[in-house]
Amino acid sequence: MLVSAKEMLTKAKAGKYAVGQFNINNLEWTKAILLTAQELKSPVILGVSEGAGKYMCGYKTIVGMVNGMLEELNITVPVALHLDHGSYEGAKACIEAGFSSVMFDGSHYPIEENIAKTTELVKICEEKGLSLEAEVGSIGGEEDGVVGAGECADPDECKAIADLGITMLAAGIGNIHGKYPENWAGLSFETLDAIQQKTGEMPLVLHGGTGIPSDMIKKAISLGVAKINVNTECQLSFAAATREYIEAGKDQSGKGFDPRKLLAPGFEAIKATVKEKMELFGSVNKAE
Ligand SMILES: [Zn+2]
Repeated sequence: MLVSAKEMLTKAKAGKYAVGQFNINNLEWTKAILLTAQELKSPVILGVSEGAGKYMCGYKTIVGMVNGMLEELNITVPVALHLDHGSYEGAKACIEAGFSSVMFDGSHYPIEENIAKTTELVKICEEKGLSLEAEVGSIGGEEDGVVGAGECADPDECKAIADLGITMLAAGIGNIHGKYPENWAGLSFETLDAIQQKTGEMPLVLHGGTGIPSDMIKKAISLGVAKINVNTECQLSFAAATREYIEAGKDQSGKGFDPRKLLAPGFEAIKATVKEKMELFGSVNKAE
């Protein structure tokens, strides 16, 4: 059964580790992530962007697929199904469809409007026992067509949003979605520390986990990050493994064109990436 991300993140923050959010794109992605979480006894969050939601034929299709897998694969670790960078309408649609967690990304609105819309969603999520992520300060790179500059969030605005009763807070600290540029300045730990001091127990979320060096990830966790989003890294490892299979001509030998064979190396590559991340984040063996 899907669970809210609240309990797993409260434990993670208290235990100084982070739970990975791994974005899904199809059945292979979902299966790879769930099986790895189960093998490593790690809690996990499945992320779905609005674009991926459309690609997978809508939120109800996704809820059906994920719930089916939890049962058929005997997944017993805590799993949250979470909308990533949702609009206000998207968040409501996911709640309706059976997601256990949603993010409302109001970071592009003036802070007053972000507060107003987040407040409404807090009420709905509280009634239904769902977790809610809010964002302050846009995260750099591309979020489904919206390109942000990678600003650092204002710690006072973070406190204002955290106090609304949300479950977890994403705050820009110089992080970027997608691949990091050569001249990237790194994470602003000064900003992160200031945010943590203002927001106390609130689990903080680090977006754009792909390509952040391990030592920075560990430092971010020590400063209150309890959820880390990984998306691009699984895409890159899936693509590289699939390319290798095709370039070796394996799709042209025997029944190598069978999709179950063709997609297998990519599936294994996602599993390896997820395992590596769960080990780095410290969430292995944290599921009860
Ligand atoms: Zn993000």
